[in-house]
Amino acid sequence: GPGQAEPVIPFNLPESRTRVFAIASGKGGVGKSSLTVNIAAAMAQKGLSVGVADADIYGHSIPRMLGVEGAPTQVEDMIMPPQAHGMKVISIGMFTPGNTAVVWRGPMLHRALQQFLADVYWGDLDVLLLDLPPGTGDIAISVAQLLPTAELVVVTTPQQAAAEVAERAGAIVTQTHQKLAGVVENMSWMELPDGSHVEPFGSGGGKTVAAALTRDVGADVPLLGQIPLDPRLREGGDSGIPLVISDPDAEASRAIRAIADQL
Ligand code: ADP
Repeated sequence: GPGQAEPVIPFNLPESRTRVFAIASGKGGVGKSSLTVNIAAAMAQKGLSVGVADADIYGHSIPRMLGVEGAPTQVEDMIMPPQAHGMKVISIGMFTPGNTAVVWRGPMLHRALQQFLADVYWGDLDVLLLDLPPGTGDIAISVAQLLPTAELVVVTTPQQAAAEVAERAGAIVTQTHQKLAGVVENMSWMELPDGSHVEPFGSGGGKTVAAALTRDVGADVPLLGQIPLDPRLREGGDSGIPLVISDPDAEASRAIRAIADQL
């Protein structure tokens, strides 16, 4: 209400050196969360101090994908995030009613997200990765307002129909004035036992989105990389051990590391 101080989000302080990336997609199921955890893990493997925030309120899958065991604990006014694979992890799912670890203090999603960013003790992070819900909804706008310096990474599949919706999710930066770090194409091909490649979702989506967004924002938006289909990537999500950790030599892991290196 009036007179009530706005919670301070540490990443917005002038002295903050944390880079914030919001991982976005046009629609669900393109691998946004899987890539978020693997890019995060690849960054942590490089020795960076990494936080992962799951802002996908309806689809919150990050804790499972990272094998998070514990719940957040409260120390005075701060929420201590559980850790997994050396990363601090928090999910907006932990802030919803029914979860007793943290008390929900406002009906609004925006407010919840604001608290979720302001009240969590992140420490001195090099990078915060934020997994957005799919689409161009309220949370994407809220994140832009709450974290104006967050750079957007757009995930798409090679399919042209998917590329069109992914472009819309990325073009939101023309309103929010955020930076677009680039585009990632996931599920680009699958290697058959004989070594040949098939493209079950077609090809070109990533290039199309990068070119369209380059036009939309009037600045170069790179295609950061293409990730093959690999059943072990899904298995890693189910078991809580990202593929870049369980099999760093897999082609998908190498492609993910190359993306992490560009961010
Ligand atoms: P989103 O966050 O976009 O909804 P998910 O990360 O949940 O997508 O991925 C959707 C499904 O596809 C999950 O079961 C995930 O394990 C699987 N998946 C994602 N990327 C790949 C990939 N490159 N190879 C194989 N399975 C993948």
